[in-house]
Amino acid sequence: MGDSQYGICPYDSSHRILLFRMPVHIIKCARNYKGPPLEICKYNATHRIKADLMEQHLEECADYKKFHEYELLQKAFQVRKSPPRSE
Ligand SMILES: [Zn+2]
Ligand SMILES: [Zn+2]
Repeated sequence: MGDSQYGICPYDSSHRILLFRMPVHIIKCARNYKGPPLEICKYNATHRIKADLMEQHLEECADYKKFHEYELLQKAFQVRKSPPRSE
């Protein structure tokens, strides 16, 4: 078991939480949270970011990258699947 199993709670950076428990923890922590409102990342519900930092987050969000890489792969695949032009 390595350190990579843990993530930092977006509501309190002193909380180190097992990643598989993060979704449950975040819901509990959000209820007690008193700071500025955080937005939920569209690509991973356990990412909570201040609205003005969301753009910056997406630049480094691994799930955002995964999502768009998949989309690009699908597009490339579709292009390859289309029949060759008969001229
Ligand atoms: Zn927490
Ligand atoms: Zn994210």
